[in-house]
Amino acid sequence: MSAPTLGTTVCDHLDPVLPVTGAETLVPRVGAAPIRYANLDVAASAPALASVAERVAEVLPLYASVHRGAGYLSQVSTALYEASRRTIGDFVGARPDDVTVVTRNTTDSLNLLAGCVPAGPDGLPGRVLVLDLEHHANLLPWQRGSATVLTAAPTVSGTLAALRAELARTPYVLLAVTAASNVTGESLPLADVVKIAHDAGARVVLDGAQLVPHRRVSLARSGADWIAFSGHKTYAPFGAGALVGRRDWLDSGTPYLAGGGAVRQVGLDETRWQSAPARHEAGSPNVIGAVALAAACDALAAVDPAELAEHEAVLRRRLVDGLSAIEGVEVVSLWPDAEDPVGVVTFAVEGHDPGFVAAYLSAEHGIGVRDGRFCAHPLLSRLGLTGGAIRASVGVGTAGEEVERLIRALETFVAQGT
Ligand code: PLP
Repeated sequence: MSAPTLGTTVCDHLDPVLPVTGAETLVPRVGAAPIRYANLDVAASAPALASVAERVAEVLPLYASVHRGAGYLSQVSTALYEASRRTIGDFVGARPDDVTVVTRNTTDSLNLLAGCVPAGPDGLPGRVLVLDLEHHANLLPWQRGSATVLTAAPTVSGTLAALRAELARTPYVLLAVTAASNVTGESLPLADVVKIAHDAGARVVLDGAQLVPHRRVSLARSGADWIAFSGHKTYAPFGAGALVGRRDWLDSGTPYLAGGGAVRQVGLDETRWQSAPARHEAGSPNVIGAVALAAACDALAAVDPAELAEHEAVLRRRLVDGLSAIEGVEVVSLWPDAEDPVGVVTFAVEGHDPGFVAAYLSAEHGIGVRDGRFCAHPLLSRLGLTGGAIRASVGVGTAGEEVERLIRALETFVAQGT
């Protein structure tokens, strides 16, 4: 594809799908006029949708204690919280018997589930299988227990074969796998992964942090047992996330936090705990966070998934093509045969420190990207990127102009040999 210029049909197609907050932010520059911020760091934290901000403003005055208050606003707050829980579960295709625990984020959700892993068929601590490409949030919680880390193959089919072989070799109770890589945006075919694990008697938890905001994910359709995701990556503010899925482990597992709300009866010698979700939600819950996340789910659910996928696919293709065409810029891929990657593109600029490049993009061009090792140190080491890399990521609010600006800025950077 030849490089599109602004105003062509390609770029007309790239108008943001949904309005986000902060899109008009101006970045001050030394010796140059302020420039509109280009947020290409959506994979780290996505800007809140304008409709989410409106919803938060609407419910903030209704703030009152949840579950334990008899007053009118307590009842309103409780109803808002429980309705939000249902919306969040429905958004990820929860089955009728599934539980939605409102957590702080993906990290919280995966740690919570890690505390609920039962013993394996051999009576020893239940073994968990993970790939070496995971975000630390989907690696470290399992390593506190009994985890095996498998090196992913350089193709989707090779990785599926490696998973199948390892699951046949050793009894695992759980496979914890990313639904989309935070380094490359690439995914394994989830229904295939689930079938391979289930055939071997292992359950599956999906780290949905990067997929849930960008594709319609369904526990019911994929057959996955749990999914974890974060509000702040799903166009809601920080502070709320979710773990959605099977009830049994959550009902029998150790309560995530000990405290009020998680108990049925407390005596000085014995405590009887609630079942999930209350069992894992001790303390006053984040009502506004849950309402905001539910509002984001509602807004995303109202968008045609094909339109959203196409919007991001066009932006991603342009990023990959534009960046790869620049001398010395190398785009990273885990699985070149992966289908439908989300809008995350990681690259290195030969001979240049990623932190310096990212600082240049921000200071000179008002472009926000992420640099570093993306909380995926084992993967970056395997890829030979021990010094880190740069990541650009897009979402519903991203405009084609922002992607074009990044490509032009990097062309300038490389041409100047800065
Ligand atoms: N998993 C993936 C794939 C991520 O990209 C991230 C965050 O970048 C996380 C987990 C952790 O998310 P949080 O920091 O919201 O807990």
